Amino acid sequence: MVKDMKNHLIGVDIGGTSIKIGIFDFEGRLINKWDIPTNKLNHGEDILHDIYNSILERTSFDDVFGIGFGVPGPVSNEIALNCVNLGWNNKHLVEDFRKILSDENMIIRLANDANCACAGEVFQGSAKGFQNVAMFTLGTGVGGGILQNGTIVEGVNGLGGEPGHIVVDFLHKFPCNCGKKGCLETVSSATGIVNLAKEKLTKTKRQSALRNFANFSAKRVFDLAKQGDQLSIDVIDEAANYLAYAMSMIALTTNPELFVIGGGVSNAGEYLLNKIKDHFYSYVNPFIRDQKIVIASLGNDAGIYGAAYMVKP
Ligand SMILES: [Zn+2]
Repeated sequence: MVKDMKNHLIGVDIGGTSIKIGIFDFEGRLINKWDIPTNKLNHGEDILHDIYNSILERTSFDDVFGIGFGVPGPVSNEIALNCVNLGWNNKHLVEDFRKILSDENMIIRLANDANCACAGEVFQGSAKGFQNVAMFTLGTGVGGGILQNGTIVEGVNGLGGEPGHIVVDFLHKFPCNCGKKGCLETVSSATGIVNLAKEKLTKTKRQSALRNFANFSAKRVFDLAKQGDQLSIDVIDEAANYLAYAMSMIALTTNPELFVIGGGVSNAGEYLLNKIKDHFYSYVNPFIRDQKIVIASLGNDAGIYGAAYMVKP
């Protein structure tokens, strides 16, 4: 029997400062991973060549069944519509990379990086084995992804599974990077948690250990909340409430089997999960009583796992 040489998948996660590349087998076992810097000069025109050369240094494309890419911006029909961080606009990435490869048969796919992270958790992370999953990534902003029957929901403008800009705060307390006010990411991201805490500190005279710090992070608010600081507890409760409200809208739209919470804020673990669950059930009861909600497990590698997931046979 002739050995089929094409037994590797490659996942590429293109970020604004570095590009993560991973080689996987078909079962999703990571064989090798590394980073290269993102060269943003001249509207990022060398990025794809850099990726190609970097992969060639480590493996032969003869072994590769498919290559998946995640990019920091909306994607529709294999086109990266707008990646401000890379200088890309309407980048026909799949077409362009195929030209560099000059291989008509290579499977090449492209998705938004947060959607990739969701697919990655399905491939080898907390959502392994599930086909209908919604993920919220709580970092500096709020990203997300939705997988329906194992397929990324991309949407007509690449905005499928983009929950960070759902308006949840109808008092419109804080401006968002998108130009609107009241978006989920202004209140439930790491930045949002600090927003809520600073608001409570300035608008009330309530006592809090947070007053001992001129500046503080979301992690500080979590740490103090866990130690019983009531103002910090109220901040986390409010952030969790907004998130649960956005989750309830998705629960009653696509009805996923599982929600995955990722990003730096999810390091708060069970403490955060319990707060989210309390509020979530208040929004979806009596329709949903046993929703699975878990913390992501792949961290920053979720993107390369998900990019590879898209091209597995
Ligand atoms: Zn926004």
